Amino acid sequence: MGLKSIRLMSGEFIPEIGYGTYLEKDEECYQGVLNAILSGYRLIDTAEYYGNEEAVGRAIKDSKVDRKELFITTKIWNTHRGYKAAKEAFYESLEKLNLDYVDLLLIHWPANEKQFPDQSDEINYDTWRAFEELYRAGKVKSIGVSNFLKHHIYNIVRKTKLIPMVDQIELHPGCVNLDLIKYLNNKGIVIEAWSPLGRGELLNNEFVLSLAEKYNKTPAQILIKFILQLGAIPIVKSKRADRIAENLNFNGFKLSDEDMENLINLKISKEPKNPDEIDF
Ligand code: NDP
Repeated sequence: MGLKSIRLMSGEFIPEIGYGTYLEKDEECYQGVLNAILSGYRLIDTAEYYGNEEAVGRAIKDSKVDRKELFITTKIWNTHRGYKAAKEAFYESLEKLNLDYVDLLLIHWPANEKQFPDQSDEINYDTWRAFEELYRAGKVKSIGVSNFLKHHIYNIVRKTKLIPMVDQIELHPGCVNLDLIKYLNNKGIVIEAWSPLGRGELLNNEFVLSLAEKYNKTPAQILIKFILQLGAIPIVKSKRADRIAENLNFNGFKLSDEDMENLINLKISKEPKNPDEIDF
């Protein structure tokens, strides 16, 4: 199964879909990542915060897939913002992953004004300076951010030429910030979608179920296709081998413009997380 890939500003290529590992730990995480790689996933998404980098690293090694074929992402957690702490945290992650480099390093969440009045921009830029250095040193092939809104990105863009190459954001039906998507597209920043299945909750949504029937696909495949048609990279998680394979089987159909529009505007009960309001 050949996956397509997208060119990042670094010149590196990122696969069109990724495998997420949030809430997966130890043996379960190891098996999930191993199954995912053997099923054909090449992009694996982990984070310092997930506490599973060692298990991810073991699965990478045991998969026997050439390192150059894989695209490994990790993220710096909120307790390690700033130049020095971010660098130290990165080297710890690298060691846990048992790798020489990672393909993509992300700032997990922006520092916000609510938590750091009058300092958040400075803190975010300080973290970014560490990222620039790691990128120039070849320890990280591409650098980016996660959960950054327009104004957080603008704060970096206005200060440096080396701008984020990826923004990983919450993106699924009923949670689509078209204004942010347009901004990221204009800047050439590739979008990754976290929780593309709405943590699994959207799989039982009546409208999603009706589309599954209409297109003769599973609800998960409809939700994954929705992200791909928005031009973003779905980062999808399952610990089950059958679902891991199912989630890669998204080719051979296209959602109509009307169905895309209805999914964009879908009414959902759960409020998306606002990066300017988080307190962790
Ligand atoms: P997802 O939207 O990927 O949904 C995962 C849930 O859906 C799990 O409960 C899984 O259950 C279930 N599921 C998966 N595939 C199927 C299927 N085919 N049929 C039925 N159920 C299915 O949620 P996540 O929150 O995990 O998001 C994906 C990834 O995004 C994370 O793992 C993480 O890597 C990243 N992320 C990043 C964040 C950030 O701040 N940058 C925040 C949150 C997530 P089961 O495992 O039992 O199959």
